[in-house]
Amino acid sequence: MLKTFKKGGVHPAENKLSANAPIVTAEIPKTATIPLGQHIGAPASPIVKKGDQVKVGQVIAQSSGFVSANIHSSVSGTVAKIDDIIDATGFKKPCIIITVEGDEWLEEINRSSDIDKNLNHKSADIINKVKEAGIVGLGGATFPSHIKLSVPPGKTAEVLLINGVECEPYLTADHRLMLEKGEEMIIGTKLLMIALGVSKGAIGIENNKPDAIKHLQEIVKNYEGIEVVPLKVKYPQGGEKQLIKAVINREVPSGTLPIEVGAVVHNVGTAFAVYEAVQKNKPLLERVVTVTGKSVSNPSNFMVRIGTPTTQLIEAAGGLPQDTGKVVSGGPMMGKALSNLGVPITKGSSGVLLFKKDEASRRLIQPCIRCAKCVTVCPMGLEPYLLMNQTEMQNWEEVENNRTMDCIECGSCMYTCPADRPLLDYIRLGKSTVGNIIRSRKQ
Ligand code: SF4
Ligand code: SF4
Repeated sequence: MLKTFKKGGVHPAENKLSANAPIVTAEIPKTATIPLGQHIGAPASPIVKKGDQVKVGQVIAQSSGFVSANIHSSVSGTVAKIDDIIDATGFKKPCIIITVEGDEWLEEINRSSDIDKNLNHKSADIINKVKEAGIVGLGGATFPSHIKLSVPPGKTAEVLLINGVECEPYLTADHRLMLEKGEEMIIGTKLLMIALGVSKGAIGIENNKPDAIKHLQEIVKNYEGIEVVPLKVKYPQGGEKQLIKAVINREVPSGTLPIEVGAVVHNVGTAFAVYEAVQKNKPLLERVVTVTGKSVSNPSNFMVRIGTPTTQLIEAAGGLPQDTGKVVSGGPMMGKALSNLGVPITKGSSGVLLFKKDEASRRLIQPCIRCAKCVTVCPMGLEPYLLMNQTEMQNWEEVENNRTMDCIECGSCMYTCPADRPLLDYIRLGKSTVGNIIRSRKQ
């Protein structure tokens, strides 16, 4: 029987419209808008100024704290300005804006597509390379990857889990990467294992991607210690805690990190970025992005330079359909609606999803009928109806006591609610308020 996590979960329609679309290199933009805060933690500090000439791969902003990441130029050209621009969050954030001239790369970056299988690296060197290259979790979490590789004192890493689940409907960027850059991704997995000092690695993939499972199972025959684990399809299996439960049957306790049970989780896109950083000296300056939707003429997967405007990708996929009601950054379950289509693609952009008007409209909110469906599907064992009510009443003590901070914002509760209650909207509000209260207590 196929493995999966036990608690909760839902089965939304998969709609993987772009699954058979090979990755196409997107055009280099005329202007790149590169945000300084593309990761969880402190925004990077710019080290270039207006008028500076930059090359592809050059550091343009340096990590500014323990939890932070370097930012590199994804293009060559002249820095036009450093300014506050609206990003995918809908807020103005500081960005470096570069007018593109040609495509001149730093000489030390190896651009050949030959696969480099050399695994003779030291752990500290790999971690340092990952840090220098500005690699962050590419599954959407954008947590700086080098921190996850530095195991805290008193904890032991036993197994590396690679997340190839891609359980969000519509998105296919990871699926295509596993098919087209499988060996590079497996070498990246080995490098991550060396960095962590573990001999076991497992790649979890849902069995709606049998071609990727078969392809990687063939490749890992040549790489000791890595297993490909097919998983039963169930959302949100790509959540770290759900993946750990599914693959190694360990439960990460509330309020702790995967290392508590000896696991470290990285996404397939991150493993590929680690390969490129260590073997090719290439920092994180581009990523695969799915552009899709039922009325999109050519649902596509693009290799995109960071800082490319979203509109450019929509044009490349056939243009904005007339009946578009909403454009979402990410997938339909966890993605966020864009307020402006000019926002740049960042390290955390996994997809651009276009909803038709009839798909985009929200239904009328009805009173709760106390059916408990939201409780049944919650993979974290929470009571979403209660968290929403307590947030509405601003009863922050109870919101905290009822473990709102454990919510992984998967949206399963809202998806399943027959009364169309905006559960996750309220829970997000509760999380941010309680998060601020907890932080202020520590000061
Ligand atoms: S409460 Fe949070 S974790 Fe639970 S189903 Fe809702 S969004 Fe997912
Ligand atoms: S699923 Fe909706 S209607 Fe049912 S208990 Fe939860 S909030 Fe109430």
